[in-house]
Amino acid sequence: MKILVPVKRVVDYNVKVRVKGDGTGVDIANVKMSMNPFDEIAVEEAVRLKEAGVAMEVVAVSCGVAACQETIRAAMAIGADRGILVECGELSDVELQPLAVAKLLKALCDKEAPQIVICGKQAIDDDANQTGQMLAALMGWPQATFASTITLAGDGTQMRATVTREIDGGLETLEMKLPAVVTTDLRLNEPRYATLPNIMKAKKKPLDIVKPADLGVDVTPRLATLKVAEPPKRSAGVRVADVAQLVDELKSEAKVI
Ligand code: AMP
Repeated sequence: MKILVPVKRVVDYNVKVRVKGDGTGVDIANVKMSMNPFDEIAVEEAVRLKEAGVAMEVVAVSCGVAACQETIRAAMAIGADRGILVECGELSDVELQPLAVAKLLKALCDKEAPQIVICGKQAIDDDANQTGQMLAALMGWPQATFASTITLAGDGTQMRATVTREIDGGLETLEMKLPAVVTTDLRLNEPRYATLPNIMKAKKKPLDIVKPADLGVDVTPRLATLKVAEPPKRSAGVRVADVAQLVDELKSEAKVI
């Protein structure tokens, strides 16, 4: 069984993002970039399935600028066998939108025929939470989003996935036929740290580079970002001496009672 894992290059989760002065987006000049954390969880899960003998091959895919090769190498250092970069020229992260990525992934699924695609539930830069769902719809495959456990079983000809999903107020368990799309939630696993020998080995693993045109996909943005702004600054709070003063402040200052 082959597993495809889309991995997105995003601003590292430890970096405090800055909005560009002209409000057109987030400033990523000289900012540390890393693999989207939910995608690290997806790679870890795929590698565990391979280590358990359920999967034969794990393929990491990234769509974006040439530097996304680093993200693919990071996935290989965790244990992915090979990588595919869909190089989208100068399109920025914001311009390469979830529908375009889903179409690119569909074209790769048609070519690579994976049994399961494990995506992150959302990218921490656009917070879209759309790509996995759009891919499932384009492929006509079942999907299980926000997975906290994934179990694969079957006889090779017809594999099934049992997925526990984190939903409001509890857990839901779904069973579906493969091929399918699963998106990862935080509690699915704790990704391993890549060891130095594995980082070195990853440099030698195969990485193919293709262009959207090679896959017959038009990645032109469909949505225009009108404005990006910092959240409003919170004003400092006031310390009150007792309940009487609190009630007084709520009446006279906040005017909420
Ligand atoms: P989003 O729909 O943008 O929140 O992204 C959800 C998931 O889709 C991510 O966690 C990735 O697994 C995948 N994905 C989104 N954009 C890309 C990209 N440019 N390259 C590879 N995978 C991506």
